[in-house]
Amino acid sequence: MGNDDHRRRKTPCGFCMAVFKWIPVLFITAVIAWSYYAYVVELCIRNSQNRISMIFMLLFYHLFLTLFMWSYWRTIMTSVGRIPDQWRIPDEEVSRLFRADSPDTQKRILNNFARDLPVTNRTMNGSVRFCEKCKIIKPDRAHHCSVCSCCVLKMDHHCPWVNNCVNFYNYKYFVLFLGYALVYCLYVAFTSLHDFVEFWKGQLNASGMGRFHILFLFFIAIMFAISLVSLFGYHIYLVLVNRTTLESFRAPIFRVGGPDKNGYNLGRYANFCEVFGDDWQYWFLPVFSSFGDGKTFPIRHMEEDTESLLGYHSDTRIELEEDFLPEPRFQDSIP
Ligand SMILES: [Zn+2]
Ligand SMILES: [Zn+2]
Repeated sequence: MGNDDHRRRKTPCGFCMAVFKWIPVLFITAVIAWSYYAYVVELCIRNSQNRISMIFMLLFYHLFLTLFMWSYWRTIMTSVGRIPDQWRIPDEEVSRLFRADSPDTQKRILNNFARDLPVTNRTMNGSVRFCEKCKIIKPDRAHHCSVCSCCVLKMDHHCPWVNNCVNFYNYKYFVLFLGYALVYCLYVAFTSLHDFVEFWKGQLNASGMGRFHILFLFFIAIMFAISLVSLFGYHIYLVLVNRTTLESFRAPIFRVGGPDKNGYNLGRYANFCEVFGDDWQYWFLPVFSSFGDGKTFPIRHMEEDTESLLGYHSDTRIELEEDFLPEPRFQDSIP
């Protein structure tokens, strides 16, 4: 779903790759479609003895399925977004950057270009982060995705199961997708448990292939639930500490303070609101309610750090004020 995808698809190889990338999504969709048949037709309609319980089972089943599919669809279809032109380095500056005779000169060019951009993240050598492929200054928490061929805001990871990058715009949908997938699997497993036990006792009403549909329905629901529980738990933990998957492997490096895995950790509730918003009515629905614009993020202990450093050196004051501006300030051209 990257910016270069349309260009790539024009070649036969690019088209094959684009089709190939949809295979995991098709696999998941096929499993859901089969589970729908097995649950609704074989377990409920053909096998259920009690009409009232069947209606309740189908009612809750469709509720969970709708929330699950809605979150899945939005995770897949949400575009990774585009980084605004203010972050793009003009061609003449890029060639000056590549011609630079030393890393220090490169660092100076980048720092000069980014001085009015709200960036606090740095590379290992203290330079402003720059993407050679997209020719842009990387906003904080953004990374280049080689599958999407573009820089992605607050990139979490590229997920083949949704054929999309999990990022600032769809992270909430992704967490809800994992949560509702888990609820769906557990619901299917618990409501088919009775028939699963009956099967082994030889007392199941269903005959022929219907018996095996119910048997596999239980097995597959349990299998998916086991793998989802750890992934969902891990992402809930990441939401509560305000960290992306990439940041949990490599801590972001801040201009002031250096590497800090907890750099964005504002406390559990504030972290949760960053992703899910502060209106509980939207927490459980895959509609966009995350805070911010994906390019700037509040930093932990920002005020204390700023105050302590402001008293230290008067020149630092100017640099810090630029770094910690709450709203981005952009400049249209380089003087
Ligand atoms: Zn890039
Ligand atoms: Zn990607």
